[in-house]
Amino acid sequence: MDVMVPAVTPASTPPAGPWVRARTALRCTGPMAAVLGVAVLLVLGAGEWATRNELDNQWDNLRRSGEVQALALRGVATRYSYLPFTAAQQPLVAALLRNPDARSVRDAANTYLQTVNANAGSDTLYVMDANGLTLASSNWNTPSSFVDQNYRNRPYFRDALQGLAGRFYGVGKTTGEPGLFASAPVYDDGKVIGVVAVKVQMQPIVDTWAQLRDPVFLADERGILFLGSVAPWLYKTTRPLNAQEVLQVQHDEQYGARWAPEPVPWQVRQRDDQPGVELALPDSRKNYLAFEEPLPDLGWTLTLTADSKVVAQARQQAWVLATLASGLLVLGALYWQLRERRLQENRQARIELEQRVLERTHALQQAQAFRQSMEDSLLVGMRARDLEGRIVYVNAAMCDMVGYAASELIGCLPPYPYWHPDELDRHWNDSDTALAGKAAPQGNENRLRHRNGSDVYTMFYTARLIDGDGRHIGWMSSVVDITAQKRAEEHQQKREAQLQRVQRVITVGEMASTLAHELNQPLAALVNYAAAARSLATQGKTALLNDSLAALSTQALRAADIVGRIRRWVRQHPEAREPCDLNAAVDQSLDLLLRAEARRHGVPVRLDLSQTPLHVHADRVLLEQVVLNLGLNALQAMQTMHAMQMASKGLHIAAHPHELLLRTTTDTGQASLQVLDRGPGLPPEIAERLFEPFFTTRSDGLGLGLNICRSIVESMGGELLARNREGGGALFEIRLPQLPTL
Ligand code: ADP
Repeated sequence: MDVMVPAVTPASTPPAGPWVRARTALRCTGPMAAVLGVAVLLVLGAGEWATRNELDNQWDNLRRSGEVQALALRGVATRYSYLPFTAAQQPLVAALLRNPDARSVRDAANTYLQTVNANAGSDTLYVMDANGLTLASSNWNTPSSFVDQNYRNRPYFRDALQGLAGRFYGVGKTTGEPGLFASAPVYDDGKVIGVVAVKVQMQPIVDTWAQLRDPVFLADERGILFLGSVAPWLYKTTRPLNAQEVLQVQHDEQYGARWAPEPVPWQVRQRDDQPGVELALPDSRKNYLAFEEPLPDLGWTLTLTADSKVVAQARQQAWVLATLASGLLVLGALYWQLRERRLQENRQARIELEQRVLERTHALQQAQAFRQSMEDSLLVGMRARDLEGRIVYVNAAMCDMVGYAASELIGCLPPYPYWHPDELDRHWNDSDTALAGKAAPQGNENRLRHRNGSDVYTMFYTARLIDGDGRHIGWMSSVVDITAQKRAEEHQQKREAQLQRVQRVITVGEMASTLAHELNQPLAALVNYAAAARSLATQGKTALLNDSLAALSTQALRAADIVGRIRRWVRQHPEAREPCDLNAAVDQSLDLLLRAEARRHGVPVRLDLSQTPLHVHADRVLLEQVVLNLGLNALQAMQTMHAMQMASKGLHIAAHPHELLLRTTTDTGQASLQVLDRGPGLPPEIAERLFEPFFTTRSDGLGLGLNICRSIVESMGGELLARNREGGGALFEIRLPQLPTL
């Protein structure tokens, strides 16, 4: 499994925050560069578009405004064109020209002109003779009267004198005020005899222009700016004039007697893609878009301007808006990128997490499989309990040990189902002690009850159960099955007991033969000494008789000593009565010697034991000794029978085959153990004396066996019976009061 090593951040590196990530994102990604490029293009394009749009707007406005202003200008310029013609038709005017000195005519003419001029609304209406001398004028009675003024150098006079309609804009020679002059010839008999001219003020137009935000001006055919909203520009030339033109203007005094050519204060920049030009004024640092509206009928050029600052402002506004939009775009892109990055990181993190979970799950599965294998291979039972004693875990070995499934045990509180019913108090005590944390470190031995009813001996070793946080959450016990060991111990004990019993049986046998042997001698000696004493008494040999009686007494004492030793032996082996099973006594006797002896005699052993144990109150060893004795007697009886048959050359065929039958039964509170053979049986003379001490029919017999056996059985409150068996043979029966079933 990979080991996760935490990334180490160098001390000089600032912590990686969102902005660092943002910078990284901005720095390193192509899409972001594209977005930035788009943003720059957007800003530039917006500026360009706004400039173009604003220029178009401005040009449109200028064009429309030019049309309107041209219309107005034309209206003003032509409104009074009729007036000189009309006045020229007046007979009074012709009369004046014919008689310039006639005072009354002149007065009438002055009055006429004054009246017409006032009604028409023109500035001045006046009449000149063929020499340009003003004979009458509407302002005849004002200080700036034109009367007697000569205007022959004025173009409009010259034009009219030649029969043409004159029009001229210039500064008034008399008043010094600019105005538009229109003239018409006065004929007399087809000959021009004078000129009528009207002067019209253009100031209202200029006043209108002054209302406009940007300059408007009007240039004559020579490019001299003669009318406009910016006074300092007046009478300046928009193009260089040749000497002829300068002289002509000065001659005409068109723009005053002191006029001299002087260029306008701007530089013209041609714009190929624009309908006009741009005027750059270095002094005021202004630039104007200039739209020229030619007025060919008047010979003038009207120029309207718009401060290009508006365009620049529109461009700047567009830039600002586009920059904002680009900012938003970049921010949006940044947000999108951060979001994508975070989603990517989340996806990556999720993948890594899933990978780690998979690895962890795999490792856990491995560990679980390993643990499971380990647990399954364990012979030691494991049982975990919580602090209240509830079983929270058992392994397979534990389940096998007690015969319950884990699902049956987990969740159980004491008393647990495998507690042995005979040892509940001890279980409770052990459980409480363990839960109190006082379990003996060397472990507790417990007898459990397997589900199948068998006993299970175990050793419990209990320790604290600590969880991953170090908290004490319960108790873990390892359980070692010591049943086999226990059984081995019991077996050993039984074997030892058996050995002891064999020893004792052998000892009893030995004791009996020793008794016989040792008593034989003193008894034989007693018989001899008694016979000798009787002979000596008959012979009257008192001294020798005394010796014989002394010897007789010694032998009697010796016999008494032998009997005393037997008594001491008996005292050393006091009767130990306890509940015993007759069936078990049969088994034990067989195991001890009987089966081996039967095999030696070639006699089969048959058992007919009761299904249930037959408990009696007895000394187990003595009881077994009785059974053993009866069994051996039966084998010997059948051996005797066999010998007799052999002696009769096999003529007598036994009705039943030889066998040793051991049977246990119960009847009305009496337990019975019968030893049956197919020997010669018990003839009446033998049957009467069977239990007498020292009665024997065998050459090597002592005749004490049955006597002792009966004493033993009777000492246990029972009786030993003997009778002939049906079909031949003998039947010996031990009857003892049966104990109630345990
Ligand atoms: P011993 O075996 O030393 O003779 P016992 O007291 O055991 O002494 O037996 C006494 C006598 O009872 C035997 O000698 C034998 O004659 C007779 N006896 C005992 N058991 C049987 C038997 N199963 N069948 C026939 N006779 C028997």
